[in-house]
Amino acid sequence: MKKISLLFVLLLSQLFAFAQDRCGTEPPTKALYDYLEQIGDAYRNGHHRVRIDSVLDVPLKMHIVTSPSGSKYSYNTMLTVICELNTKYQPAGIRFYLHSVNYIADPSLYTHFSFQTGSQMMEQFNEARVVNVYFVDLGSIGLCGYAFFPNTGPGSFLRNGGLMMSVPCSQIGNTTLAHEMGHYLALPHPFDDTSNDPSSPISERVTRNPFDTVGGRFPANCTWAGDRFCDTRADFISTRWSCAGNPPVQLDVNGDQFDPDETLYMSYSLDQCANRFSEEQIMTMRTTLLGNGTTQGSRQYLIITPMPAADPITANSTVIEPNNPNTIINSDWAFFKWTKAPGASQYLFRILRNGQMVEEIVVADTQYVYTGFRLTSGAAYTWNVRPFNHAYTCMPASANGQFRAGQNFGTSVRQLESDAISLYPTLLEEGQLLQIGLDNLAEESLQFELYDLQGRRIKEMTLFGETVQRISLEGLSQGLYQVRISGDGILKHGRIVKQ
Ligand SMILES: [Zn+2]
Repeated sequence: MKKISLLFVLLLSQLFAFAQDRCGTEPPTKALYDYLEQIGDAYRNGHHRVRIDSVLDVPLKMHIVTSPSGSKYSYNTMLTVICELNTKYQPAGIRFYLHSVNYIADPSLYTHFSFQTGSQMMEQFNEARVVNVYFVDLGSIGLCGYAFFPNTGPGSFLRNGGLMMSVPCSQIGNTTLAHEMGHYLALPHPFDDTSNDPSSPISERVTRNPFDTVGGRFPANCTWAGDRFCDTRADFISTRWSCAGNPPVQLDVNGDQFDPDETLYMSYSLDQCANRFSEEQIMTMRTTLLGNGTTQGSRQYLIITPMPAADPITANSTVIEPNNPNTIINSDWAFFKWTKAPGASQYLFRILRNGQMVEEIVVADTQYVYTGFRLTSGAAYTWNVRPFNHAYTCMPASANGQFRAGQNFGTSVRQLESDAISLYPTLLEEGQLLQIGLDNLAEESLQFELYDLQGRRIKEMTLFGETVQRISLEGLSQGLYQVRISGDGILKHGRIVKQ
């Protein structure tokens, strides 16, 4: 009984996975086919050799929508997925960089029941001169993703179309993003224009011989049928298929058996089968970015603005503090510090419990004060940072630091005595000393910490032995600062303004 139900669940999940696997990109327009035929002819006549003599840097804007349960597409996953995308596009000399991330905190935009929600979002949120990529849930319409060909889709020119990605298909190791990006840069499916009726005379034929007419055979038509590429084999499968087994048998108008190429990202073979773009596909994507004088293929506006300079990231960070499983820190006020990774402009700071992500926060510095509420008192945690910059997202996370979460701020604090600590003045003129009245806590060893609004620890010292401590804040820039005074069961928060 148990075996049967387990098998049933496995079958169901398999069906579900297949049901969700499709791509929802609309069939190409006649204008797109005209564009492909025009540049394809020029290419095959030798007028337009593909040269990967320059790297084309393409900006990505990632739109991340909050789900109804409050979850979001993981930033850590996104960094790896961009890195993987770049590996896949490296032979094409196309490099994607992280222009920006836009968080959309409207859960009603997460689950899509039609294409309308996506169109509405692209109209509203698309930024000009970048590739707009949305991370939502398309499971209800059975899709992994969809994209718009050049000059189609919502939004005006310079910001039209984009990619709509379903989060379950946007995980590490998936190829949907590379596939949809191919559409965005003008590539049809190899089975487009053929799979409706593979044996029709106007569907793409298996033969590649333009003089293959003996015995009434139809010669090659790859230049004007199917995906218009002659170096992608004729394909007739418009449902997901596994390269592990034999594809279904189907014959073209000549009675030749199709042998579709499962290695192409643009085919519908399963993700693990695909690993390349063909040369003509690469030539087309590069022409779409570089322009060939027609508007149809034009996504030139993506590469007109040069990518901001970035240094290579040559080494990882090392965690500094906390880094001991016995170190107990406040569960809602914890200070983290790590070493700089050369070349990194940002760090993805992550707190994990049993290897599961609890928090992930992008930090532009090498320290961070965590003031959230997700840590459980008494639980063991690890943490790490992942250095990155807009051009390089392939550095893995640093080695883990360890700590244990203690009580949170406000519980088990010697409240009355903490309240008795005074802080004055709170508006400091240049040269004025900050005074801390400790009253009867003068003989306890207390920790004084000062943080700026970015959560950077600016100053720390031990207070001991004086009922009124005087602290110089000389050299500090103007602005608002957080003060924290802590000790055995003592916790006092305050704010001061340096004028
Ligand atoms: Zn597709």
